[in-house]
Amino acid sequence: MVHVNKNFQKLPGGYLFPEIGRRTRAFEASHPPMPIIRMGIGDVTRPLAPAVIEAMQKATEEMGRAETFRGYCEETNGAYDFLRFAIRDAYRRGGVDIADDEIFVSDGAKSDCGNIGDLFDVDNVVAVCDPVYPVYVDTNAMAGRAGDYEDGKWTNLVYLPCTAENGFFPALPERVPDIIYICSPNNPTGAAADYDQLKTWVDYANEHQSVILFDSAYEAFITEPGIPHSIFEVEGARTCAIEFRSFSKSSGFTGNRCAYTVIPKELIRDGASLRDMWNRRMGTKFNGVAYVIQRAAEAALSPEGWEQSMENVRYYLNNARVIRKALTGAGLTVYGGVNAPYIWCRAPGGMGSWEFFDKLLRDACIVTTPGAGFGPSGEGYVRLTAFGTYENTCEAMERIKKLLK
Ligand code: PLP
Repeated sequence: MVHVNKNFQKLPGGYLFPEIGRRTRAFEASHPPMPIIRMGIGDVTRPLAPAVIEAMQKATEEMGRAETFRGYCEETNGAYDFLRFAIRDAYRRGGVDIADDEIFVSDGAKSDCGNIGDLFDVDNVVAVCDPVYPVYVDTNAMAGRAGDYEDGKWTNLVYLPCTAENGFFPALPERVPDIIYICSPNNPTGAAADYDQLKTWVDYANEHQSVILFDSAYEAFITEPGIPHSIFEVEGARTCAIEFRSFSKSSGFTGNRCAYTVIPKELIRDGASLRDMWNRRMGTKFNGVAYVIQRAAEAALSPEGWEQSMENVRYYLNNARVIRKALTGAGLTVYGGVNAPYIWCRAPGGMGSWEFFDKLLRDACIVTTPGAGFGPSGEGYVRLTAFGTYENTCEAMERIKKLLK
């Protein structure tokens, strides 16, 4: 008889978003007085850049002709040179030197953040920020590295509280972790780490031979100087860090699916090159991203495609500004939204996350994300996203202002 991976049975019921969906559908069925505005899930709404569409159309036509048809990609692990070189050059423009064979293209940062666990032994101690993007936690739980789920926490994880008091950036923990997830700009708090903050963790990881898994899916939203777009801007990172990036939020590829992971050759643990291990893993378990999508991603990094995509990013950041201004004006305490598309809002009057979520849904017909769903330190907050339309964002803010008057 087959035995299943028992770690799955330890996972608490459902991912956060199904529960939000359930409550929203139930509310919708009760004939709410106003249209519901969704500011919960972090999906984009702006269409793809014209340069990206043009590249996709051209690539689609190539696929329809025998002379230009492409099957399996035989270049590095299913990633065409044209895209890896474009990614390398984009890093160079940002002042970071990455070799093209340190870049691995995939169908998403979510997949890579989860799959990277294949490289690490089950006994490693994992540290996550609290609150945190749930994928880091659940994938480690599935692999058996998280221990048991008790009283809202995993027994083997090191939780790094990110609170208003520490500026939503974690202090070094007492128990030394082997694997450290850092996400900057952060989902859900919207906080972005500066050079010195990242340097503290890079030095710590090198000292303890830990590995930092750095998620910079939102780097395109950084507006302030002094905030690194890549962990590899930080001296010493090449010997301790892996970076995940995505076209999802920078270029609206949430439906297209394309991302990449960078593993420097200097990253050696237990005498093994993590870059070589990932190369082996990708060659074994992955056959690459669709040719049309790789051409689309290349176009997104072209000067024209990037400028067009950044227009969308600026559109979202303007929504974030509108949200910050309105909520602050309504007497709420808000964080984020300057270098990130997320606004982390303190629930008023000591309300809990789900309580404030329900109030905003019931009385203003607005869907948010309860902070408690991202970890214990998220209790008392809700996350709003700036990915909606400008019109809906303004309408939602008018409703909240009226509600809290
Ligand atoms: N990392 C973070 C922090 C995210 O918030 C998200 C998506 O919301 C992802 C990764 C996933 O990106 P992708 O669409 O490339 O899988």
